[in-house]
Amino acid sequence: MSSIKIHQDTIKPGENKVVSLNTYELPTKTKIEIPIHVFRSKHAGPTILLSAGMHGDEINGIEVLRKIITRKEIQNLLCGTVIAIPVMNTVSFLYQSRDLPDGRDLNRCFPGTKNGSLGGRIAYDLMKEIIPLIDVGIDFHTGGAKINNYPQLRCNFDDATSLKIAKVFSPPLIINSVYRDGTLRKEAAKKEKPILVFEGGESLRFDYQSINEGMNGCLRLLHHHKMIHDEIPPNPFVKLTKNVWVRAKLSGLFHIAKPNGAYINKDDVLGAICNPFGQVEARITSPFDGYIVGVNNQPVVNQGDALIHIGTED
Ligand SMILES: [Zn+2]
Repeated sequence: MSSIKIHQDTIKPGENKVVSLNTYELPTKTKIEIPIHVFRSKHAGPTILLSAGMHGDEINGIEVLRKIITRKEIQNLLCGTVIAIPVMNTVSFLYQSRDLPDGRDLNRCFPGTKNGSLGGRIAYDLMKEIIPLIDVGIDFHTGGAKINNYPQLRCNFDDATSLKIAKVFSPPLIINSVYRDGTLRKEAAKKEKPILVFEGGESLRFDYQSINEGMNGCLRLLHHHKMIHDEIPPNPFVKLTKNVWVRAKLSGLFHIAKPNGAYINKDDVLGAICNPFGQVEARITSPFDGYIVGVNNQPVVNQGDALIHIGTED
């Protein structure tokens, strides 16, 4: 076991330390920092990244990390290292917005550039300072724009390591997800560092089921690597290879008839679209057997809007 370096700080084996990714300047000359909590055992083991707040309005993951870093067994790891970044996107968190002040989505700025925009710089620093140190990462997100995601891990099923990690984490749903350009997940995968994306709940809302599933998954992963004693029994998870959004055929008021996470059969009625004047105009039915993995919580919908996200096993 040797010391690790993050920006200007050195963290020795057996040491717990809060360090800073870098310092960034706002137009008011205000300096902002991205605090990183590092927990190191004296004994050799893997390095696990837990990150949240990539999108500043996605609070459930921030709460998962808040709970994780206050736990005694994390502060006294049996082996290895945990690098926890509770709020990756400090400025967006302050504004309670998804995007950065210049409108950029931090999770489309990877791999970033040294002298780029704020998003580009944060992405560059994460790729330079953090990704080389880690063996595996979990990045916490929630649904955006009134979408509520049932607790799920997203990973590429073609990558056997990612799938193995997902099974250890054992969230209720494991969903196949291809890499998207500009994301931390894709750029880390190029460096052979698997990062899995946890999705749970919706933006600007606490969802305690998602928070608990997120925390328990992290504890399972740490226990699997013998980093903590606590053992959490695994969930009976399902693996979903394909997912499709059921969209609104008509505009109106959308009522959902099934709970998020429910198993559904082809042609089951999932909900209805009514107009404000008393008529039920369309019933929404399921195109196939599967699970509801996310729902739109917005009551007023327009033609073509995403209503219900369904995942299937084949
Ligand atoms: Zn997100």
